[in-house]
Amino acid sequence: MENFTYNALPSRVVFGAGSLDRLPQEVAGLGVEKALVLSTPRQRALAEDVARRLADQAAGVFDQAVMHVPVATAAAAVAEAKRCGADACVAIGGGSTIGLGKAIALEFGLPIIAVPTTYAGSEMTPIWGLTEAGVKRTGRDAKVLPKTVIYDATLTVSLPAHIAAPSGMNAIAHCVEALYAEDGNPIISMMAAEGIRALARSLPAIVATPDDLAARTDAQYGAWLAGAALGAVSMSLHHKLCHTLGGSFNLPHADTHTAVLPHAAAYNRDAAPAAMAQVAHALGSDDAPNGLFDLASRIGAKTALRDVGMQYDDLDRAAELATTNPYANPRPVTFDGIRALLEAAYEGRRPAPAT
Ligand code: NAD
Repeated sequence: MENFTYNALPSRVVFGAGSLDRLPQEVAGLGVEKALVLSTPRQRALAEDVARRLADQAAGVFDQAVMHVPVATAAAAVAEAKRCGADACVAIGGGSTIGLGKAIALEFGLPIIAVPTTYAGSEMTPIWGLTEAGVKRTGRDAKVLPKTVIYDATLTVSLPAHIAAPSGMNAIAHCVEALYAEDGNPIISMMAAEGIRALARSLPAIVATPDDLAARTDAQYGAWLAGAALGAVSMSLHHKLCHTLGGSFNLPHADTHTAVLPHAAAYNRDAAPAAMAQVAHALGSDDAPNGLFDLASRIGAKTALRDVGMQYDDLDRAAELATTNPYANPRPVTFDGIRALLEAAYEGRRPAPAT
């Protein structure tokens, strides 16, 4: 075994169907007096239910979370937290809502209790993101890592298949890149492989039977492992490319991950054989890129960038942007290589078999 460094991130996880019932005692356990409940407009009713459960531990509801955390939304949320005297946030929703909680934590230092309702994994990471004038900045800061995460699968039953499927592929992407991360380690690799296994078996069951609570619970377990992997080690080509496509071309986050992932894996296949063997094995496939493509297709997720808003004329610029700043990746990142990858992802082509 090679030498490695492992950083354990300090967060508490309360896992299981029905565990939202534990929220008031978890809030009290952190010494919080008044928490501001955050949500998207679409999940307002859920946020109100949470505020009711918290009774006098609730400072109010702020329901303006949107994708990629615009700075103006973050500023409005901080102002509301100050106005209502909140000393913590409860973020209930997907990566957008948890991202808003992180923006408040970054600016104003409030602790976050996260209640994730998608599989994005943000709740397990110290990574924040803020968007201004079409440019998304991200960074790592220990103070944005949620103190407590409550995984209650009953809250994900309402997640429709067309959001659940790409959200699950987004989680699998964290696991794939963790397996070949330059600062990877055997503990995170174990979690990443287990995360892929859990998601690969649960996502088809969820799409077939959306109210299958056992499958929903299994997917949340996979999403937790995926988020922990994302939080612990560096991501490479796939995440950088999706960040560029989301930030500069305003493509939807999870759908973009779904379309790019098989092709990013194909790009790195020969340069990271051990990681690819683990991915393939966890998927029950003999080839990682094709296994990923097949899973996405089987669960009805869109596999072509052209179907999620990418314009063909933007592929050159996307390849240029994605190769401007160097970053660690198993295979050297070149303009021609990335341009070809993007073309394949744009078309939604099945990755070529291994040679
Ligand atoms: P999202 O949070 O935008 O949610 C998508 C939509 O689904 C929203 O309208 C939301 O209200 C709705 N929704 C969520 N849960 C639901 C449920 N159970 N039932 C019905 N509707 C539900 O999407 P996402 O993919 O979870 O998050 C994407 C954002 O998170 C991006 O901005 C991305 O950059 C960020 N992200 C950050 C990290 C990190 O570590 N910082 C990790 C992953 C994603």
